[in-house]
Amino acid sequence: MEPGIADLQELEGKELREKDCRAHVLRLDRLHPVVSGNKWFKLKYYLQAAEASGKSGLLTFGGAWSNHIVAAAYAAKERGLHTAGIIRGEKPPILSGTLQMAATYGMRLLFVSREQYSAKEKDPMIRDIIRSYPQYDMIPEGGAGPLGVKGCAEILSLAEAGIYTHILCAVGTGTMFNGLLSAVASHTRLIGIPVLKGMKDDRIIDGSLPDHKKRQAVFYHDYHFGGYARQTPALLRFMNDFYTRTGIPTDFVYTGKLVFAFEDLLEKDHFPRGSRILLIHSGGLQGNTSLAAGSLVF
Ligand SMILES: *Cc1c(COP(=O)(O)O)cnc(C)c1O
Repeated sequence: MEPGIADLQELEGKELREKDCRAHVLRLDRLHPVVSGNKWFKLKYYLQAAEASGKSGLLTFGGAWSNHIVAAAYAAKERGLHTAGIIRGEKPPILSGTLQMAATYGMRLLFVSREQYSAKEKDPMIRDIIRSYPQYDMIPEGGAGPLGVKGCAEILSLAEAGIYTHILCAVGTGTMFNGLLSAVASHTRLIGIPVLKGMKDDRIIDGSLPDHKKRQAVFYHDYHFGGYARQTPALLRFMNDFYTRTGIPTDFVYTGKLVFAFEDLLEKDHFPRGSRILLIHSGGLQGNTSLAAGSLVF
């Protein structure tokens, strides 16, 4: 599995025309049916490291609808590596679609309480679990960490990134954002849309990046729609409308909020005339299966 089939799609519309701006979407959602979006890039060097050190598997963390969990299960299986996932929350009577899929790819699911999960660095039971998998490499939640950043720095090689004045992406842990920031051309502004409430700019940006890089970054914090994995009828209506206009499906946790933010900023004249804008569609569509049936038209 190698990227290369991700494609660019140009957006059209009255606002873009009137403001003399051009915008493209980098469709990482089309990279692969399971390991979609940025998770392929975040996992790449973790998989390589596990193989290089002769480990037999990967141990990682996530919630019941985690894009990372299902991507890790699939990508590891493809490489002949085993997986175990420490899952936030007690085992439910019926597994989420995401966890069922991860189990299909051979991931052993280990449920821990929410309290244990939020203290995972020091919880004794989680420490015992980790100790019982000495042959497994550990990947931080969401594929965060330096190897995740390194992989995400390669995302822009799929586009002619140097032509853009602005690049926009959703921000969860900020791993993808920091990878993009390390790779982006010096004349490009990198706009992050945090999907969590109350994230602090200086906690997102990797402190080891040079100051001139940090100055290329900007965040807009008003597009989280209530917080992580929260949504409103207005967001779902917008996602349906955006799909009808463009044929591009988005997810309600990350990319729906990203595209909403883009259109709002465009309308509010945030982008100077002549701007060339790239939106990173980071995938995650499988998460929409947690919504009530019929919420989305795609
Ligand atoms: C995980 C994920 C993100 C967030 O990436 P971070 O590196 O954690 O900021 C964005 N979009 C989608 C679709 C994701 O699955």
